[in-house]
Amino acid sequence: MIEKKKIVFLICSFLALSACTATVKEQETIKEKANRIAQDTIILDGHIDVPYRVNNKWVDVTKATKGGDFDYPRAVKGGLNAPFMSIYVPASLDNSPQSTKLADQLIDSVEAIVARAPDKFAIAYRVTDVEQHFKAGKISLPMGMENGSPVQGSLDTLKHFYDRGIRYITLAHSQSNHISDSSYDLRRQWNGLSPFGKEMIKEMNSLGIIVDISHVSDAAFYQAVELSQAPVFASHSSIRKFTPGFERNMDDEMIKKLAEHDGVIMINFGSGFVSGIARKWRDERTKQANDLASVFGADSREVKDFITKYNEDSPYPFATLETVLDHIDHVVALVGIEHVGIGSDYDGVGDSLPVGLKDVSTFPNLVEGLLARGYSETDIKLILSGNALRVWKAVEAFADRP
Ligand SMILES: [Zn+2]
Repeated sequence: MIEKKKIVFLICSFLALSACTATVKEQETIKEKANRIAQDTIILDGHIDVPYRVNNKWVDVTKATKGGDFDYPRAVKGGLNAPFMSIYVPASLDNSPQSTKLADQLIDSVEAIVARAPDKFAIAYRVTDVEQHFKAGKISLPMGMENGSPVQGSLDTLKHFYDRGIRYITLAHSQSNHISDSSYDLRRQWNGLSPFGKEMIKEMNSLGIIVDISHVSDAAFYQAVELSQAPVFASHSSIRKFTPGFERNMDDEMIKKLAEHDGVIMINFGSGFVSGIARKWRDERTKQANDLASVFGADSREVKDFITKYNEDSPYPFATLETVLDHIDHVVALVGIEHVGIGSDYDGVGDSLPVGLKDVSTFPNLVEGLLARGYSETDIKLILSGNALRVWKAVEAFADRP
């Protein structure tokens, strides 16, 4: 009897152990699979603010850097292949010679990165460049201009920036400019696009520059999408449903319209973009700080003390990888897998990045999360670059037509 019990016990232990080993193996397999997909697939990110970061405080991103969200070793670890370098010009410089000069200097800084490490990086001017660099084991650095202000109302200057490698232009940034109204700006001086903005979109189509509708007002979005004869994208925007009232993100009607025109929304990872709670946390702090500033002054001790206390009393409610996945799921449920991509805003959203997606080395986590949610490898490849490259190709094809 005792012997029989012992045998049963041994069999059970063996079965439990095998079950346990099988589970561990399965988990390892998902991780391994995620890593393999991240390494085997072109990962294109619609928006990374390396040029402005380097301009602010110079670092050599061809080597490991302390701080920041991007450098070569971390990009390699994450499997990142084509981060659009953001040529970002602040709204305060609108339509001025300084804005044009700054844009040229930031383009110079991307060229300097490539010149310093031509074995690691290359500027991508066309989709075929991205594909060839990927095969050659180099990271492509395509360039997008965030804020059309450096164009200064001149189609010749637009051509100048195309010639220097700019392949998308975010029409406006945080303020209404000479091209378009901005989602962040209560002034709606054009009720959408300016007359020059409308002319500029036609010329962007002819040259082969993607129209980027991140940042613009809703009215400007609808006008741009109707006017553009090639698909448009949002280089770094998230879903308004999760951040009610935040016009910088896209609502469901806009996403449907974007999809009708074969466009792509590339999800911004910043906690304030993907989480309503994080958004509220910052809005509340800003509101109270502004109230104090109007009495004591913006640089007063009262304002500084308030911010310190606010941060201590309620630590920042970071979003997580799962929150970002919810945004991807929402677009897929609404308009299908062909209309979503990634536009992390790394190096552009400070320390507000979600848990699990803290820098460019973490793309395999995103892939693992997508696998866990049941996305196939084919679907994941569309999200990682397939969709964005389709838009870029269509824009090239329109410009190349006889
Ligand atoms: Zn931005």
